[in-house]
Amino acid sequence: MKCKKCTKKAVINLKSYNLSLCAEHFEDFFVEKTRETIKRYKLFSKNDIVIVAISGGKDSLALWYVLKLLGYKTHGFHIDLGIKFNNYSEISKQKVINFSEKNGLPVSIVSLKESFGFTIDEYKKMGQRTACATCGIIKRYLLNDFTRKTGADCLATGHNLDDETAVLLGNLLNWQMGYLKRQHPKLPASYGYFAPRVKPFCERTEKETAAYSFLKKIDYVQDECPYSENASSIFYKKIMNEIEQRSAGTKLRFLRGFIDNKKFFSEERGVEERLDICLNCGQPTVSSPCAFCRIVQRFQKVISSERRES
Ligand code: SF4
Ligand SMILES: [Zn+2]
Ligand SMILES: [Zn+2]
Repeated sequence: MKCKKCTKKAVINLKSYNLSLCAEHFEDFFVEKTRETIKRYKLFSKNDIVIVAISGGKDSLALWYVLKLLGYKTHGFHIDLGIKFNNYSEISKQKVINFSEKNGLPVSIVSLKESFGFTIDEYKKMGQRTACATCGIIKRYLLNDFTRKTGADCLATGHNLDDETAVLLGNLLNWQMGYLKRQHPKLPASYGYFAPRVKPFCERTEKETAAYSFLKKIDYVQDECPYSENASSIFYKKIMNEIEQRSAGTKLRFLRGFIDNKKFFSEERGVEERLDICLNCGQPTVSSPCAFCRIVQRFQKVISSERRES
């Protein structure tokens, strides 16, 4: 198999583009397509400061790398979740630090244990909620908080096309209208509190981000988070992969078609639902305290009752 742009050996076959490319031309393709996505959805500009949520996985590190190549001003933010299985959180944090030093990119790290007194493992043991439900609330809260407090212009995450189409499929199957209204490569700022959230890799497949990370020798955490196994998104990803196998390009058509027809899910777009204010932290919320403060308070309550008993 030869590269379509030159005579070198192709390293990847992108069926949805009917394109086989050598390493050099694939790297160019990947960066150029990311640039196009940023432009297509008007995600941010060269003057903006972009906070990049860095988990230590391939997508977030590759995103950080590509944004640097494209000349954007970025600052990484990593949350140490305190997941001990397979030393997952410690390895992830180390990969983030190494990458930041190697590429001269600034990063801030927050430890859940040091800042709030608990880890995802400890919260999971309380058995109140699944680890992912708790973790999702915590990550959204802390990422927004950091973006707001630093005065940055937006928060970028490494969600790829596989992530986006799996979420879209799940939301459609369950008619989650609230989520469907909000699913977009760029979520604008809201309530004068939530920072804009952007997804520059939303049109890049997992196969592409993996190939790019491999070719650029990006040293990322290989293990999946131990709590990810039961996530329904994995099941939806498998289904989307099977459809893609039969009909190349379906994932991209599915996402773009949805975005092009967004009006059917967004009659109330622009009208912000009235929210309360969390009396504890000041975040707009459906009811006070907000979900994040409830998690922290619940943990503190369990700890203090355990102390009383012992
Ligand atoms: S898989 Fe779940 S617990 Fe693990 S990092 Fe993701 S959201 Fe958090
Ligand atoms: Zn080539
Ligand atoms: Zn709160």
